[in-house]
Amino acid sequence: MYFFRPALALARNPTAARQKIHYRIFQEFSFELSSIAGLGQQVKAALAHLHPPLLQHCKTETDRQSEKYLFHLPGKGNIEAVLLQHQTGRKTLCVSTQVGCGVGCVFCATGRLGLKANLCADEILLQVFHAQKILRQRGERLTNVVFMGMGEPFHNYQAVIDALQVLADDSCFSLSRRRVTVSTAGIPQRIRDFACDAPGFSLAVSVHAARDDIRNQLVPLNRRFPLQELVSALKDYWEITGGLTVMLEFTLVAGVNDSPELAQAAAALFAGLPVHVNLIPSNDTLYPPSDDPQVRAFAQVFRDHQIAVTVRHRLGDGIAAACGQLAASHKV
Ligand code: SF4
Repeated sequence: MYFFRPALALARNPTAARQKIHYRIFQEFSFELSSIAGLGQQVKAALAHLHPPLLQHCKTETDRQSEKYLFHLPGKGNIEAVLLQHQTGRKTLCVSTQVGCGVGCVFCATGRLGLKANLCADEILLQVFHAQKILRQRGERLTNVVFMGMGEPFHNYQAVIDALQVLADDSCFSLSRRRVTVSTAGIPQRIRDFACDAPGFSLAVSVHAARDDIRNQLVPLNRRFPLQELVSALKDYWEITGGLTVMLEFTLVAGVNDSPELAQAAAALFAGLPVHVNLIPSNDTLYPPSDDPQVRAFAQVFRDHQIAVTVRHRLGDGIAAACGQLAASHKV
C-alpha cells in the first residue's frame, strides 16, 4: 500500500488538509498533491515521498452494457477490468487481482495463461479509481465492486484485504462493504481468514459442480480441497459472520455439469444454508453454454428446495469481457 491510504492518513490532522487532499484525489481525480495550496511544509514534504502506482490505462472497448479497460503494469504485464451497467442502474466494476491465474479452471481464458504476477493493493484500487473517474465525468457513480476479474483473489490475499479496507474507508473510496464481493474458487483456510479479516464484505464461491469427480475436471483446485472441505470452511464462515449469505456461482457447460442430477446434488449439499445460487451459462468456445431449457430446469431444482437462485445474463460478450474471457484477446 503505497499511495491512497498514506496520502489521506498523512493529512488526517488537520481536517482541512485532509479535505483538500481528498478533494484533489477523489473529486479532481488527480495525484498531483504537491501543488495543493495551504498545506503545511511537513505534510507537503511527506506527500512528496508518495508515488502513485504505475498502472497505465491503454484501451477501452465498449458495447451496449459493458466497458472493458485494459491496463499495462510495467514489469508485470496487462490486466483488465470490466464495468457492467445493469438495467436497474447498478454499475458494477469487476477488478483483477493477478496477472493471469494459477487455478486453471478449464473454461477460463485467464486460467490458460497461468500465473504471471500478483497485483499490489494500489494496482487493484487504481482500477476502481479509473472507473469512478469515467463515471463521474458522465454524472454517474460506481455502486458495486466484484473481485471476479483475472486471478484468484485468495492467492493474493494480503493485497486484497488491504485494498478492501481502503475501498470501505470513509476517507478514501467510501464504498459499502456489502456491495463489495470477493469471489474465490474455494480455498478453505482463506475463507475462514476472510470471515475474520474482512467483516461485512460479501463472499462468492465458484462451485460449478457439487460432485468431486466433475468438479475435479472443471476446477483442478478441487483435487486439493474437495467439496467436503469447502463446505466445512463455509460452515465456519457462517459461524464467524453470524450467517452472512454466500453467493454460489455455477458456470453451466452443456452436457458437462448441467444435468438435473447435479442440480439435485448441489441442492442437497446446500439446502437450509444461507446461500444464493447464481447460474451463468459458459461463454467459452471449447466449453459451450447450456441451452435455456436446461438452465431453467437446473434452476427449478434449487427453487424446489427453497434455495434462492438467479440466472445471470452474460454481459460483455461482445467485447470478450464476460467472466472467463479476460485477457483472451490481448497478449500478456
Ligand atoms: S475462473 Fe477465476 S480462479 Fe478459475 S482460472 Fe479463471 S481467473 Fe482463475
